[in-house]
Amino acid sequence: MKFSIGVDLGATNLRVALGNEEGHIYSQLKERTDKSNGPLGINLQIIRMIKSIEDMDKIRCIGVGSAGPLDMKKGVLTHPPNIGFDFVPIIEPLKNKFKIPVFLANDCIAGVVAEKEFGYGKELSNIIYVTLSSGIGGGVFVDNHLLKGKDGNASEIGHIVIDSEGKLTCGCGKKGHWEAYCGGSNISNLVKLFTNSRNIDGLKSSILFKIIESNLNELSPEKLFNLAHKGDKLALKIIREIGRLNAIGFATLTNVYDPELISIGGSIAIKNSKLILNPIIKLIDQFNINRIPEIKITKFGEDAVLYGALSLSKYLKKI
Ligand SMILES: [Zn+2]
Repeated sequence: MKFSIGVDLGATNLRVALGNEEGHIYSQLKERTDKSNGPLGINLQIIRMIKSIEDMDKIRCIGVGSAGPLDMKKGVLTHPPNIGFDFVPIIEPLKNKFKIPVFLANDCIAGVVAEKEFGYGKELSNIIYVTLSSGIGGGVFVDNHLLKGKDGNASEIGHIVIDSEGKLTCGCGKKGHWEAYCGGSNISNLVKLFTNSRNIDGLKSSILFKIIESNLNELSPEKLFNLAHKGDKLALKIIREIGRLNAIGFATLTNVYDPELISIGGSIAIKNSKLILNPIIKLIDQFNINRIPEIKITKFGEDAVLYGALSLSKYLKKI
């Protein structure tokens, strides 16, 4: 039996799985992404992890779902803001080492492939996968066709402009992007903007207010959502604002792609499914003209990119 290797290359974690194209994962490894030895160090880490997971004679191909942006035809990452190098070659070093086909796509393109092959999108033709975690990303099928774009960056949805005044700056350096407001790594900027621009006089007894006063930069998405789960009124107000902004993003996707399903992954959504999902479902109609799609949390948890990476060979050309 021949296996595939799936790789999920994220800014924080690097995961490698042994599986097949039928959606079975037999084993997997996870390490912190090693950014201390430059782009080459990342490749060496991937190679070491793949070698330790299975005898390479049994491997048919390797699929890599990675944080973007990337150049799919050249098989490289180009200025990935969350990984931090100008240029990270992926396909060539892996192909040279293992002499088998290697496929590279944006991690959310891998995510939507997982949804289409094995998930809630199996019987559907128009599906979107959205990840809400430290950043925001997407993958899109329209009429059973996987959108890729000229360089492989067709669905960089986190960089949709939701604020034309550009009050917050995104990790990519541009202003007003959805990710600048709702991406986990920018949460303290949103909280600062919210508390400076609204009347929160009645909420000064909130625990969140004390954190904002003492050290706002230490506020993580986990802390904010935990406070909201405990009923902190200021945290709940900010979560509601995140929900409103997410609803604008989801309405934009629905207006542009007319999907039957939007599946949501990413750690923030998976750990806080109700706080994320409910405001989107409640508010999307304010911004939407197309028939509203089904919107639900992926069943793959943190593994969506790995499942999709195992099946990338079905949708991408060999380079
Ligand atoms: Zn951006």
